[in-house]
Amino acid sequence: MDHSLTISVAAGKGGTGKTLVATSLAVALNRRWPGQVQLLDCDVEEPNADILLHPELPDSEPVFIKVPEVDMSVCIRCGKCAEACQFSAIAVIHQAVLTFPELCSGCGACAYVCPVDAITEINRNVGSVAMGRTPEGIQFVQGRVNVGDQRATPVTKAVRKHIADDLISILDAPPGTACPMQETIEGSDYCILVTEPTPFGLENLKEAMATCRRMNVPYGVVINRDGIGDRGVEEYCDREGVQILMRIPQQREVAEAYSRGETLAHSFTEWVEPLQRMYDYIIASVGVTAGGGD
Ligand code: SF4
Ligand code: SF4
Repeated sequence: MDHSLTISVAAGKGGTGKTLVATSLAVALNRRWPGQVQLLDCDVEEPNADILLHPELPDSEPVFIKVPEVDMSVCIRCGKCAEACQFSAIAVIHQAVLTFPELCSGCGACAYVCPVDAITEINRNVGSVAMGRTPEGIQFVQGRVNVGDQRATPVTKAVRKHIADDLISILDAPPGTACPMQETIEGSDYCILVTEPTPFGLENLKEAMATCRRMNVPYGVVINRDGIGDRGVEEYCDREGVQILMRIPQQREVAEAYSRGETLAHSFTEWVEPLQRMYDYIIASVGVTAGGGD
């Protein structure tokens, strides 16, 4: 029986406890299915799941994109490359063609439209992916974009290549709903949206829900710091028929455990079963039958 879903954990904004939920879920599921869980940290601009799971990461690979290099002895200064670029990463100014590699997405459009083949695509390193295992045997993959680089998406894509069909894959998505978050959740079986019960949290949650709907990814909600705000998130989810998967109360002990670098599942044994039940609910809701450790 297949229980190897790909689950993204996302949030409309940073600091809502998304990584705490992703890592806690990974630990709880690994206790039920040892060695059958992987955590992929797709928050490549600020990866921090390693602080809670303490992996050893002996292997790493660089991530490259293709950027243009212009042979000015061939270029006829027609400007077609600059017109084709959606990122203002190449410009023709007077007699010069300037490139701005840190803005380039590596889409290849400029080389494609160049009428005289003056553009060669060369590798540019934009980040890296590190791989290893946590002490309890969770496979761990972490992407990291180079400091100052604008392009997180190629690194997120490189992390996603490590999704294993035969493992439960938990993806810690970047905060917000921009391209890197969308790149992370694309094709996931389910997306857990983490929010806080405040008006600001609700507005961000609405955007994240709309993104999941647009991308056809089923979703449910985890309310973190339950008790700090109002009932707006609950009432909205009720009205929209969205499942609240779990509530994590605002407790000093939870914040203290987080600051010690511990997940909920590490610090509070009573959280392991609810996290496992949340996964069972997700399996049922996406129509996959849970297995018993096969
Ligand atoms: S590869 Fe794409 S993003 Fe980069 S300069 Fe060319 S057109 Fe612009
Ligand atoms: S499209 Fe080619 S020929 Fe035209 S300006 Fe760009 S590099 Fe030069």
